[in-house]
Amino acid sequence: MLTALFGGTFDPIHYGHLRPALALAEEIGLSNISLLPNRIPPHKPQPGTTTEQRLAMLKLAIADYPLFTIDTRELQPQLMDQPSFTIDTLKAWREQNGAQSALAFIMGQDSLLSLPTWKEWQKLVDYCHLLICKRPGYAQPTFESNLQTWINQHQTNDIQTLHHSPNGYIYFANTPLEAISATEIRQNIDDPQRCKKLLPPKVWQYIHEHGLYNSKKC
Ligand code: ATP
Repeated sequence: MLTALFGGTFDPIHYGHLRPALALAEEIGLSNISLLPNRIPPHKPQPGTTTEQRLAMLKLAIADYPLFTIDTRELQPQLMDQPSFTIDTLKAWREQNGAQSALAFIMGQDSLLSLPTWKEWQKLVDYCHLLICKRPGYAQPTFESNLQTWINQHQTNDIQTLHHSPNGYIYFANTPLEAISATEIRQNIDDPQRCKKLLPPKVWQYIHEHGLYNSKKC
């Protein structure tokens, strides 16, 4: 079975996470996707919400989608002060699950572009496959040379290869374009016309019940 982890800050989770992931599962035949919230994002400011609040929103978001579960390994208290480096998480996963199980890590095209800033980025495929979801505004005909060379070495279009190899491949998925970001939601939280359609109703309700992102409490 191909295990798929989908890492992120999820501050908050939105349909730009959920819809491409649902489509990806359909496209390559995934029976489960584990959302992997980070405690301390290495590449962006620390969220204003608490870890518990982001986790609560994830739980509400996935309640109606049996595809998703949540992997809380990056939230463990012993990791309290350390950025959640994906490579370290993948190593820990391998220690638990062995070298032979197939593992994939899901990311959007924006994350792929920033990959050369990630810790030990070229080693990521030593531990997993990378599944890349489309994201509006981030499609690139070519990448900067180190990244392009590395992609050329690892890219596959063969879905069976992803299932039958434990790691080592990069797959560009044909997922739908969803022009949604958590930033847009945080910045426009008191504009229901704009935001309400961008995330699950239960998450929207939680945000307002708890006054997150300086929203008006209801
Ligand atoms: P922010 O606006 O705060 O930077 P975000 O909306 O990009 O947040 P994250 O939780 O940081 O959300 O993203 C987690 C993962 O989901 C990343 O790999 C990112 O590329 C991907 N992702 C987020 N939004 C989309 C989207 N609209 N389409 C495709 N992928 C997305």
